[in-house]
Amino acid sequence: MTELNGTHDPALRSWVASANVADNDFPIQNLPFGVFRRAGTGEAFRGGVAIGAEVLDLGALRQGGLVEGLAGEALAACARPALNDFMALGNATAGALRAALSGLLRAGSSHEARLRQLLVPQSAAEYDVPARVGDFTDFYSSIHHATAVGRLFRPDNPLLPNFKWVPIAYHGRASSIRVSGFAFRRPQGQLMPPAAAQPQLGPSRRLDYELEIGAFVGRGNALGEPIPLARAEEHLFGLCLLNDWSARDIQAWEYQPLGPFLAKNFLTTVSPWVVTREALAPFRVPWTRPAAEPAPLDYLDGALVRAGGAFDMHLTVWLRSARMRTAGTSAVRLSHSNFRDCWWTVAQMLTHHTVNGCNLASGDLLGSGTQSGPAPQEAGSLLELTAGGKQPLVLPDGESRTFLADGDSVSIRGWCEREGFVRIGFGEAEGTVLP
Ligand code: MN
Repeated sequence: MTELNGTHDPALRSWVASANVADNDFPIQNLPFGVFRRAGTGEAFRGGVAIGAEVLDLGALRQGGLVEGLAGEALAACARPALNDFMALGNATAGALRAALSGLLRAGSSHEARLRQLLVPQSAAEYDVPARVGDFTDFYSSIHHATAVGRLFRPDNPLLPNFKWVPIAYHGRASSIRVSGFAFRRPQGQLMPPAAAQPQLGPSRRLDYELEIGAFVGRGNALGEPIPLARAEEHLFGLCLLNDWSARDIQAWEYQPLGPFLAKNFLTTVSPWVVTREALAPFRVPWTRPAAEPAPLDYLDGALVRAGGAFDMHLTVWLRSARMRTAGTSAVRLSHSNFRDCWWTVAQMLTHHTVNGCNLASGDLLGSGTQSGPAPQEAGSLLELTAGGKQPLVLPDGESRTFLADGDSVSIRGWCEREGFVRIGFGEAEGTVLP
């Protein structure tokens, strides 16, 4: 909240007309970063920034010599096929580039004619994961999700006693992270049917999604040097959308005693655009803990996180079945939640991750865990929406779902809005289940 500057000015307009359309995800106040190339060309991936319905080619912009100094250093790093080096430069350097781009893309910029040559329509672009993710950690930070899922497995003891104290997480798999648009085969694995004498190998029958936020690490920390909470956000580059696809039947059989393994590491989908921490400044909200609940240990508590550690970020999940695609019916919304209801903040997750000295590297990815809200329609997975598969959802075209069917596409979308500021969006993280 203290870091607002001219790039957040709601009066700003871009010479890219599509950026000024109300409720588009990528107005000039957003300026998220990703890596892209022209679809079907085999060109090298390079950095881009989303503006309206276009991508500004940062690799080509670098050739132009328009951007110098600190912003120029950032731009050089953005010309590479992954944004790790850019993220490693830190948020002040990223901010210098953001300020330069905001000036160049502003209505009235004297460079408009030159820059028009550097735009690629998003409809003609393909994307890669924004960074080479060295390590992926997935948290479990929504108390509403943890309670709802816990109730399914342990009706008399839904929430385990450590939840309110420890930001729970598991180490995920980086090699199977893919960018939005990826179609994947239904995973197979060991399944233990309820009355069976022994497990069998077969395709998952309880395939699910998880509605999550992804957080990219900017500057890393040295092994052995924890990141104190007051400095945690200096290590946060930005946020994206994330779907932690989950095979609930494989998970139920394998998860004890060491946690998720093959139930979750077959695919994780992320959105192509990373919205920077700076772009999110208008949408910070206080992080609170109900008075009846225990305050966190001192290393997870502080004035910054209390004042504005949370993000007011809307999250939705959309389903489009094969039949809906054939009929030309648009996707149906399954749920709507908000990241502000999270039990922990991203800063607390970063700090806890490093409290033992564990080192984070630039481009590492943290998942927030499924973001479910307090109301039933705010559940971030089918496991919760269908009460463990016992109460099927009926879709508008008459189809019903307990878990995902072959041909289903799941899209996660997100946005931030606040009176007096321009709404910014995250695009989408979409994936399709193949037989
Ligand atoms: Mn998850």
